[in-house]
Amino acid sequence: MSKIDYLFDQQHIWHPYTSMKHPFPVTGVQSAQECELILENGQRLIDGTSSWWSCVHGYGNEHIISTMKQQLETLPHVMFGGITHEPAVSLAKQLVEMTCEPLTKVFFADSGSIAVEVSLKMAIQYWQGRGKPNKQQIATIKHGYHGDTFAAMSVCDPDNGMHTMFDAILPKQVFTPSPTSSFDDNTNVTSDLAKLRSSFEEHHQSLAAMILEPIHQAAGGMYFYHPDYLAGVRKLCDEFEILLIIDEIATGFGRTGKLFAYEHANVTPDLLCVGKALTGGYISLSATMCTDEVAAGISDSPAGVFMHGPTFMANPLACSAANASLELINSNEWQDQVASIETQLKEELAEAKQFSAVKDVRVLGATGVIEINRSLSAAILQPHFLELGVWIRVFGSVIYIMPPYIISKSQLTKLTTAMKQVAKMLSEENITSTQHFLSHG
Ligand SMILES: *Cc1c(COP(=O)(O)O)cnc(C)c1O
Repeated sequence: MSKIDYLFDQQHIWHPYTSMKHPFPVTGVQSAQECELILENGQRLIDGTSSWWSCVHGYGNEHIISTMKQQLETLPHVMFGGITHEPAVSLAKQLVEMTCEPLTKVFFADSGSIAVEVSLKMAIQYWQGRGKPNKQQIATIKHGYHGDTFAAMSVCDPDNGMHTMFDAILPKQVFTPSPTSSFDDNTNVTSDLAKLRSSFEEHHQSLAAMILEPIHQAAGGMYFYHPDYLAGVRKLCDEFEILLIIDEIATGFGRTGKLFAYEHANVTPDLLCVGKALTGGYISLSATMCTDEVAAGISDSPAGVFMHGPTFMANPLACSAANASLELINSNEWQDQVASIETQLKEELAEAKQFSAVKDVRVLGATGVIEINRSLSAAILQPHFLELGVWIRVFGSVIYIMPPYIISKSQLTKLTTAMKQVAKMLSEENITSTQHFLSHG
């Protein structure tokens, strides 16, 4: 007998990006172990998403759970205004240690979107402290995703994002076409950077910062661009006095095969956003890091302080989860795990190229993507994936997986087999039934 009241769920609870009038079908999950979601009916699904890219060590991890239990019993929460605690200090130490040298200051927040908001506010306040109060706009590239709050939305992809819906209220930012290079072909980097240069030439006096996802543009379409582009962005930002904000919320902590994706390009940002995998996906937490220079500029601004302070800032329970997760990351097992996932994904996904509906197959680190030649509906494809025993959620035109790093070879094969099977099915659909696969938003 079902314990979940599905009818109540349907009538009263919003799920991400859904309508209350036409609710999206939902799957009831009872528990989760390692790389499997266990449903109410006992069915086990291999998780290809790591719960939106966060649960990198898998579910039920002993080390994270015991660390959190201990914290829960001593100090689950205390305000951070005028108070500090050991989990926050340890975590900040770990982050300063793990990230590049210039990043020394840490601001803890509760979600990725807020880490992005904080980074944008920091950049604008910095320039106020450096006597350039007109620098208030943000540059970015198309196909980006940085969160769903207002300022974060304003730097998401202007065509697939929410710009038309909220046009009047969204700050107007400066967009450049997204890089047309791929991860291992830098042919177009020079022309791509020329476009950014001309944008900077026109707008630099009003630009406080440039924000982008390093190497891997995730929610905007799972694109991988060449490290030379990121290196070029860093140079142009320096030349035009624009701060560089790197959003590693999706890519940080090993996903692309480097601890941080900016390492592929040997660059260092002025500000860095981390979230998602920060706690190993056990609880929400994010951080914005910045350099001494950015922090000094903010102190020299008329306000003299950084104006942000969430109620649950540096929540001790969340910090304890992150401490435990980062200890696991620091054991460096992820390096072999991600490398072998990458090899296997390349081997097993390649054959999808033969299906007529497949536009592209690409792999970077522990992310595998089959891009289809049209928009896909998660609602329609979900039952097919459930039947195949996997949890895979399509968006836009991509079937992708970002599994936990601890996934076994046979579990990964089950995921890639399901991806190929659905890609094949989409290729065999005739023109009329193809209509059913169109996304309805
Ligand atoms: C998910 C994501 C965010 C937003 O994080 P939330 O925790 O959902 O607010 C921001 N930037 C990137 C790159 C992301 O992938």
